[in-house]
Amino acid sequence: MPVQLSPNVDLPTIEDLDISGRLVLIRVDFNTPLKDGKVADDTRIRAALPTIEYALKQNAKVILMSHLGRPKGRNVDELSLAPVGEVLAGYLKREVLLSDRPMGEGSAYLVQNLKDGEVLLLENVRFHSGETKNNEHLAKELAAFTEFYVNDAFGTAHRAHASTVGITQYIHEGVAAGYLMVEEVRALSRIQHAHRSELLAVIGGAKVSDKLAVLRSLILKANTVLIGGAMAYTFLAAQGAKTGLSRVELDQLDTARSLLALAQEKNVKLLLPVDHLGATEFSEESEVQTIDSIDIPDDLMGLDIGPKTIELFSEAIAKAKVLIWNGPMGVFEWPAYATGSFAIAEAFAQSNGYTVIGGGDSVRAIHESGQAEHVSHVSTGGGASLEFLELDKGAFLPGIEAIIKRDLEIKQLQDELNQELAAQPKLTPID
Ligand code: ADP
Ligand code: MG
Repeated sequence: MPVQLSPNVDLPTIEDLDISGRLVLIRVDFNTPLKDGKVADDTRIRAALPTIEYALKQNAKVILMSHLGRPKGRNVDELSLAPVGEVLAGYLKREVLLSDRPMGEGSAYLVQNLKDGEVLLLENVRFHSGETKNNEHLAKELAAFTEFYVNDAFGTAHRAHASTVGITQYIHEGVAAGYLMVEEVRALSRIQHAHRSELLAVIGGAKVSDKLAVLRSLILKANTVLIGGAMAYTFLAAQGAKTGLSRVELDQLDTARSLLALAQEKNVKLLLPVDHLGATEFSEESEVQTIDSIDIPDDLMGLDIGPKTIELFSEAIAKAKVLIWNGPMGVFEWPAYATGSFAIAEAFAQSNGYTVIGGGDSVRAIHESGQAEHVSHVSTGGGASLEFLELDKGAFLPGIEAIIKRDLEIKQLQDELNQELAAQPKLTPID
């Protein structure tokens, strides 16, 4: 059954395709961190398993495709997917073939000889410069490998690349989203379509300028917005508070003021830190000081939210029904300034509402806090999950929209073909 994203927008899923004994190319996100030529964290490989295992259970011929790092259109040995293939083979308990180039005769030969239930991993698709340029020629060549196309790479859904967008135009049998993509879209849609009175957003992290669009959209959607992290000091400075040596984006003060005004106009409860943890310099070794006021002394910088802010934020979190958190509350990489982020993690874990965490560092923070299992959804896509939450984005992220559109086109073409066949005079056999 397709996932209904809005009354007339359906996202088809891999279960809607009849892939048994057929070729299916799955775009996965195997962009995993490597160390000394080995996979350092296999979270993304594990996240792709349900879709791959489903396709294998259907006895499909499975071709996998992913990018890894930024080879910038060249063959970079250190960015080969070979170590990923090894880990994957372990999980699937079967051989994973690897092509030496993403495209070309070698890959074509392997595809032609692929048998039901076999897995072929194409080499890093970004070894081709056409990938990130959404090059038509590359898209066509990739599409020529397969009958069906499944996109399960939510982490790159916000990019229009040849392997995520261009390729869909040249697929004729069927296109769909994989399980990971579907799960992400379901969770983030719940945030996007939440009733204003129920929605609370916690936003933090490094910069206002990184998150302008999502800040604006969450202020327009949510009932309560809590702001922490370094970006809080830009907001505090915009309100005229003293911020000492804290990281303030001077070129964003006007923007911060207009966001504060927008919140007031929309009657949104926007809360900023009322106290802080700080130090005299940006260093893990510096002595931690509690700053028991909104204002930060001239010789100190804010590096985390303080205990009163934790209480204030936690109370608001306890009342909300639908919650989204992006961006750490402090420099959580240093244990002394992880307190604020871990307290938010705890408050999210204890919430009876629907809780979603999105963003690279915030996801790391929730895992390190040990609370990841107690929240409703931890998004695997940093940039993609943020963009999804921007106003009017959602299902219109390029990688998702491409599937929805192509699915409609394919169905229309198939309908037309069927009508033509039905309209043709029946041939009666001659005795
Ligand atoms: P996410 O990846 O979850 O979207 P960001 O990348 O925006 O989050 O922000 C995370 C970074 O912000 C972390 O590296 C963290 O150390 C930094 N940060 C948070 N609070 C502060 C602060 N008060 N001062 C300096 N850096 C901070
Ligand atoms: Mg980050």
